[in-house]
Amino acid sequence: MPDLVHNLAAVQQRIALAAQLASREPRSVTLLAVSKTFPAEDVRAAHAAGQHAFGENYVQEAVTKIEALADLRASLEWHFIGPLQSNKTRPVAENFDWVHSVDRLKIAQRLAEQRPAHLPPLNVCLQVNVSGEASKAGVTPAEAAEVAHAIAALPQLRLRGLMSIPEPAETIEAQRAPHRQLRELFEQLRAGGLELDTLSMGMSADLEAAVLEGATIVRVGTAIFGARDYSH
Ligand SMILES: *Cc1c(COP(=O)(O)O)cnc(C)c1O
Repeated sequence: MPDLVHNLAAVQQRIALAAQLASREPRSVTLLAVSKTFPAEDVRAAHAAGQHAFGENYVQEAVTKIEALADLRASLEWHFIGPLQSNKTRPVAENFDWVHSVDRLKIAQRLAEQRPAHLPPLNVCLQVNVSGEASKAGVTPAEAAEVAHAIAALPQLRLRGLMSIPEPAETIEAQRAPHRQLRELFEQLRAGGLELDTLSMGMSADLEAAVLEGATIVRVGTAIFGARDYSH
């Protein structure tokens, strides 16, 4: 899979250039490789090339992949980033290290109850629906503070920050606007006493805009693994 190795290096280079423009350390941005729809062997190849954090959207597909890669578990970090229904929280609480897509308190409460006591706290981000988002999931900016404080009080979870999936936009300025909104909300919540360190924003098409606005995790699928095929 020479493409994969080349693509990973190219994405790291994009992150480094954007970080440099923003006077940030490239290492302050974590690359989350979004491996949904791609086989466990692609994850294994990316891991061999030095990639450790992987994002998945579909619970059953992800759990199968995590089990197939059990031999690498100690050096892999699994992030759940997809829509999460309340009847699917248990396998997520049991198998993942992070959940970015917590979009209501009830989901967080279930994850907290179901996180096994022998595992470290589950890292979570609150998904926010900044204005005009393609994905309708997420709390509104106005609700965010109340929900975030409630999540931060739950056992077995560690609220790390905020996540969003903005509407695709063509120009870098249009891409930056919703990322800036999320960063401003993040700063307000921190000023309000929450110890947050994570802004999960930016994908293949807009990662530069996200890094310029302060992203600490960019979630990149297509630019690493290629176009997704949903036909099977
Ligand atoms: C699929 C997905 C990504 C990756 O998108 P690409 O455009 O392929 O980089 C990032 N975040 C979420 C929430 C996704 O569902």
